[in-house]
Amino acid sequence: MKKKCLECGAEIMGRVDKKYCSDYCRNAYNNKVNKDSKNLVRNINNRLRKNYRILDSFPLREGKTRTTRTRLLDKGFDFDFITNLYTTKKGTTYYFVYDLGYLPLDNDQYMIVKRE
Ligand SMILES: [Zn+2]
Repeated sequence: MKKKCLECGAEIMGRVDKKYCSDYCRNAYNNKVNKDSKNLVRNINNRLRKNYRILDSFPLREGKTRTTRTRLLDKGFDFDFITNLYTTKKGTTYYFVYDLGYLPLDNDQYMIVKRE
């Protein structure tokens, strides 16, 4: 079985464990992979930052306030991006983006809280 370079597809001569035809192709391939993972991290960080700004846009009274799912979505909130969960002893789970969190309530209502 003939192996092909992961970068350019050229046939590889020599050792069976070789993945690239040349150092050039190895570097080119690895640079692309690194770039993709850097973009991934950047995109997720941007989403988290946006979610944080949205939560932060609600004025809190005594560390909390209420809003609706619709209002959060209207502002562009993405429920897929959080940094951590916090579950109370009673089993209530808060979803946090850094130190700002939300708790889904009944009827599409949400409680927004700030961690002390
Ligand atoms: Zn190659």
